[in-house]
Amino acid sequence: MIDSRSLEDLRPVVKAKAKAFLEACAKENIEIRITSTYRDAEAQNALYAQGRTKPGKRVTNAKAGQSMHNYRVAFDFAPMKNGKIDWNDTALFARCGKIAESVGLEWAGRWTTFKELAHCQYTGGLTLKDFQAGKQLEE
Ligand SMILES: [Zn+2]
Repeated sequence: MIDSRSLEDLRPVVKAKAKAFLEACAKENIEIRITSTYRDAEAQNALYAQGRTKPGKRVTNAKAGQSMHNYRVAFDFAPMKNGKIDWNDTALFARCGKIAESVGLEWAGRWTTFKELAHCQYTGGLTLKDFQAGKQLEE
């Protein structure tokens, strides 16, 4: 099971944007922790089971193959305050989201159907269906 937090596990073009995001945040004195990058099918299904067949809070509606994390084009982040993550500081997440957008990432805090403050992705215009059909980002 692979449940990575390493930027190295992202597609190169996404990794480059993630690095630009971290640098832009650092310039504004915001320290970022990357909490998830690539997840394999097993890890995705384990996450999906949480809050359904396993204890815990539901954190995803995506089964294996249905998450952009499975295609190495998404990552989750959290801003740190005094070495800790404050999941309730939505204003700080929104500030980071704007920074993510400024480097060309899509920030899921803007989504209306399944809003996720911690999620960023870059799909180059490809859809989930495209990825499921085996298409990949051009480098
Ligand atoms: Zn995510």
